Amino acid sequence: MIAFEKAFKLVISSAKPALTEQVTLLNALNKVLAEDIFSDIDMPPFNKSAMDGYACRREDIKNDLEIVDEIPAGTIPSKTIGRNQCARIMTGAMVPEGADFVIMKEHIEEIAQNLVHCNRETSKANICYAAEDVKAGSLVLKKGEVISPSSIAILASVGCSHPLVFKMPSVAIISTGNELVEPNEIPGISKIRNSNSYQLAAQAQQLGVMADYLGIVRDDEESLKNVLALALEKYDVTIISGGVSVGDFDFVPKILNQLNVNIQVHGMDVRPGKHLLFGERANHFIFGMPGNPVSSFVQFEVLVRPFLYALMGKTGIENLLHLPIEEDYLRKKGDQLIFVPVTLTSQGTVLPLEYHGSAHIHAYINAQGIMEIPKSISFIKKGEIVSVRPL
Ligand code: AMP
Ligand code: MG
Repeated sequence: MIAFEKAFKLVISSAKPALTEQVTLLNALNKVLAEDIFSDIDMPPFNKSAMDGYACRREDIKNDLEIVDEIPAGTIPSKTIGRNQCARIMTGAMVPEGADFVIMKEHIEEIAQNLVHCNRETSKANICYAAEDVKAGSLVLKKGEVISPSSIAILASVGCSHPLVFKMPSVAIISTGNELVEPNEIPGISKIRNSNSYQLAAQAQQLGVMADYLGIVRDDEESLKNVLALALEKYDVTIISGGVSVGDFDFVPKILNQLNVNIQVHGMDVRPGKHLLFGERANHFIFGMPGNPVSSFVQFEVLVRPFLYALMGKTGIENLLHLPIEEDYLRKKGDQLIFVPVTLTSQGTVLPLEYHGSAHIHAYINAQGIMEIPKSISFIKKGEIVSVRPL
């Protein structure tokens, strides 16, 4: 039995840098950049009108203005704007030579054919200036960042059509237990439905990792050995639920020993998730998740997710909020690190949810975060700062 913090360090330090590949922008979401990205152009590339309106000289905006040109987006203006002149201009079009101001269309009155007047007091130029967002050559995205929809927009606008990313790990999911039936079955007496496999696969999918589900394995050594031998051979990461604690039929640790897996963690001073197992064989990794649904859910969030991110090449894997607690919190029992489901109030405080222990997965339906209560702390006063991992 080791401290959770020690297990966390062991697990994360095992994650070796992954291989890289180039992907299209349609396949880049959730992957991690394996290169720094620099802009090949100024953004905007030219002085650009932010409005549909009339481009003129700022000093002329109180005068009647003669329309001398029309400038749609994507065209090059042919005329220089002189004294008391203007050009009808569209959003996104180049501001013509001579003009330093765009009067919004809504502020303009037509007083005669080709003659307009601004009927509003206005000072905002409505121009996006060349290079004001990004200068050519500047760093726009860093190696190790997860690609989000907004970073895809940046990649596209700087001409990076095939970013270099770290390869996603291949992940297998297995559930063990003689009591398990699949969700489409009606559980007979003494049976329960398998929820962990689908929950773990969904948690992996949230990271962009498409896990293969290898099915339910019964609590017998032969079947377990066959499926684990295959998974360890074929997948970068195997996540198996159940069979890792101290019951007579918890064969997973024994089988992993037979398969020459180096078990680095088995048992942590934490709740839920005390019996978690982590091992490695030649760059193939295995997590033995406790069968209790809350334990497997929480341990995925606090341990497997950061591990997968590290394997995916992400930098800065810790993601904790430090916020005041909404009400007094008294720990009911124990003196170990515990994880508690919480919601976040609109005032930015942390409200612990009613929670009956590690079979009570319903407590997590409304949870917005997992609060950490350190080993030595048994009482937290309203308003004190607590650490929360957002979900
Ligand atoms: P175990 O870790 O195998 O001792 O299982 C602990 C508890 O979790 C038992 O109550 C199991 O019935 C339950 N459990 C195990 N596997 C699953 C699963 N795949 N889905 C839902 N509950 C499970
Ligand atoms: Mg079991």
